[in-house]
Amino acid sequence: MAIAIPVLPYPAMPLLADPPPWNDANRPQGRPERVGQSVLGHPISLFNPAPANLLLMGGVHGDESEGVFLAHLLLATGCALPLIPCLNPDGALLRQRWNARNVDLNRNLPSRDWKPEPLNPRYPPGSAPGSEPENQAFFAALARVRPSMVLSFHSYKESFVEIERPPETLPAAINRAVATFTAAVGIERRPSVGYPTPGALGSFAMENDLLVFTWELRRGISHGELYAILPQVLAFVTELNRHRFVPPPKRP
Ligand SMILES: [Zn+2]
Repeated sequence: MAIAIPVLPYPAMPLLADPPPWNDANRPQGRPERVGQSVLGHPISLFNPAPANLLLMGGVHGDESEGVFLAHLLLATGCALPLIPCLNPDGALLRQRWNARNVDLNRNLPSRDWKPEPLNPRYPPGSAPGSEPENQAFFAALARVRPSMVLSFHSYKESFVEIERPPETLPAAINRAVATFTAAVGIERRPSVGYPTPGALGSFAMENDLLVFTWELRRGISHGELYAILPQVLAFVTELNRHRFVPPPKRP
């Protein structure tokens, strides 16, 4: 099925949680739901707030605006899946990785491996697991959507999709969807980013029966390049959302 992509009047890079007003006319799902607010009081919005298998999220790291822009493009093309375009609006405004309290939101999640001391000064985990209001907004979105899968958009020096759960624990249809997508956009599937990430979404997901896809977009990928792969992205997320991930039984 061909996916019609409207021509967009490109604004400057959107930095806030709410997309620019040119989205409103095309969005049948109504206003987003406010699931929380940032340290500085900026709203954190969940678009298409309804139960679904897949939750999409961008902007966990404020200096990774590639994923925020992709999220806005998805909304503009009528993507009806639940989506948080920007979990860290303060970081986006400040153009920094961390939130306004200089916490790395992707090290602050309440997983068993959370530690008060950062493994690296670049990754401050916050004062307590789940302490940051942006992550509380994420928890509110999880409660609202009740997804079995989360696809989070980040950016890195090279592009890949990271899935910490081994392929043999995933439904074949999900492995096929990942293989089709990664081949279509020319990137790899990887089992891990390659270094320990306590308090990150991957650890949290393993303990909370979620399947997480972390898509590292190539750092600095242009709006035009993102625009060009939108049909593949839409096909991928639509296919993923057709399946419900059920985790394998836990070992006692
Ligand atoms: Zn990131």
